[in-house]
Amino acid sequence: ADGQLLVQGASTAREGARLPASHRRVLAPPPGQAEVFSLELGADHLLVARLPRLNAIAVYKVDGSAIQALVGQELRALHLGVALFMGLLLLLGLLLVSREISFRRREQRSLEQRNRDLELEVQARTQELAAANQELSQLAAQDALTGVGNRRSFEQALAQAWAHSRRRQEPIALVMVDVDHFKQYNDSLGHPAGDDCLRQVAALLQTGLHRPEDRVFRYGGEEFVLLLTATDVNGAVHCSEQLRRAVEARALPHPHGVVTISLGVASTIPDQRSSDGEAMQLLARADSALYRAKEEGRNRLVAV
Ligand code: GH3
Ligand code: MG
Ligand code: MG
Repeated sequence: ADGQLLVQGASTAREGARLPASHRRVLAPPPGQAEVFSLELGADHLLVARLPRLNAIAVYKVDGSAIQALVGQELRALHLGVALFMGLLLLLGLLLVSREISFRRREQRSLEQRNRDLELEVQARTQELAAANQELSQLAAQDALTGVGNRRSFEQALAQAWAHSRRRQEPIALVMVDVDHFKQYNDSLGHPAGDDCLRQVAALLQTGLHRPEDRVFRYGGEEFVLLLTATDVNGAVHCSEQLRRAVEARALPHPHGVVTISLGVASTIPDQRSSDGEAMQLLARADSALYRAKEEGRNRLVAV
């Protein structure tokens, strides 16, 4: 109580040692008359016990570094726990993420496969469609009875050939072909036989033309038209005469004897200023030549 230090440390008596005055001041009235209390004095942590029977106060200095070590240990344990927990969480997260990634990858792979399958399917369908379209446009351009080009495809081919010949300043020839006395053929042998005759004449015309660019069309009824590019009137007459002979030589029976054809030939070099429509004038000339061939006795050709 008078500031004298009785004991320091475990048991070493320090007779005569005294607490510093500042410490004594704090210790003089123990707070709240407690028997034991703690006291912070600067960096020191003190435990104070009142010993009334000795009329003394015992002061123990607690080793600060031991407390720190203890706290440090606690903290390390806490850190370890937290780190372990976080590690576990991270591991779990990684597991989930990797599962998700592999799931997504599988999904993507199956999607890619489906895309490839679809692309192949689309390709196959597109090819089928293109083939069907080609077949359809061929059918649309063909005469159903004879298989040669129909009138619509003749008009398209003529416009193209006309433009081509005009550009190159080459001759172009048209030959109108008509079966002679075909009405009588039908009347005496019947319509189905007439159809067959038309098929045979068409085939003879087609096989009788030798250049791949020469084309045969059914213009209507028992009339055919030949489109001969890069062919002048002499060339067209030569071809036409061969065809006439070929049909006659085929000797299809007819009430008049055999089936024959008449041909009207016209050829020109298109004027450079001419329009595609002027090709129809060439057709009209071939038609009037055919008319003359009929007038002159049939089974012949006339060129204009
Ligand atoms: P011409 O020598 O003056 O040409 O006499 P033609 O009898 O051949 O001429 P016309 O124009 O009087 O008769 C053509 C006949 O062709 C009439 C028609 O019955 C026949 N005909 C037209 N188209 C077809 C067809 O697709 N099939 C058949 N079997 N006959 C057809
Ligand atoms: Mg006719
Ligand atoms: Mg006829």
